[in-house]
Amino acid sequence: MKKQFAVIGLGRFGSSVCKELYKLGHEVLAIDSREEKVNDITPHSTHSVIANGTDEKALQSLGIRNFDYVIVAIGDDIQSSILCTLLLKELGVEKVWVKAQNYYHQRVLEKIGADRIVHPEQDMGIRIAQHIISEKIVDYIELSPDYSIVELIATDKVSSKSLVELNIRALYGCTILGIKRGDDINIAPTPTDQIQQGDILIVIGHKNDLKRFEDEGM
Ligand code: ADP
Repeated sequence: MKKQFAVIGLGRFGSSVCKELYKLGHEVLAIDSREEKVNDITPHSTHSVIANGTDEKALQSLGIRNFDYVIVAIGDDIQSSILCTLLLKELGVEKVWVKAQNYYHQRVLEKIGADRIVHPEQDMGIRIAQHIISEKIVDYIELSPDYSIVELIATDKVSSKSLVELNIRALYGCTILGIKRGDDINIAPTPTDQIQQGDILIVIGHKNDLKRFEDEGM
């Protein structure tokens, strides 16, 4: 279903979010206080406007409270990011996602009711590190400090075996959510589905269990 998004702050992070949402077919209002940023995003957004995210009247006149999600991607100006988030929540925006610059910024954002706080540089750093240290891990999503989803390349050890034969859930406590083979993704694997070397297994579990599966099971 098409959703309505607004992105405030069109630096590297905000403009990437905006372009991707637009590419996925959603309605995106792109906002920045700098004209050149707004001009650059015009072909990649539904509407783009020059406005200050800390100007309550401007936010109101854009009808900001009617958007499903507002993403605050104001970079280094932490004070503006906090004020903008506060105004959005006061104006009744249901879901406000904010890019945090540091731990103290995050704590303030939590206090004023940001619905989701993201740390793109930190998250990407973790993902890249996970990728570098393991030849089997192709991607990594942290769900909580304990649980993750990883994409692992199937080795010959598991090749030509079915999920029931491998018994991964009982042996390692991990669950295979999907199997990617070339451009195909099997999102509802059945016990009899066989794995082939080179498949990408999408696996969810506790980090310790995932590590054990990666080291011993693959
Ligand atoms: P990134 O690290 O994602 O590249 P930047 O700090 O470079 O982030 O970019 C932040 C963007 O937010 C800039 O384009 C800047 O013009 C915009 N910005 C900063 N303050 C405001 C504000 N009060 N209202 C709207 N946009 C803002």
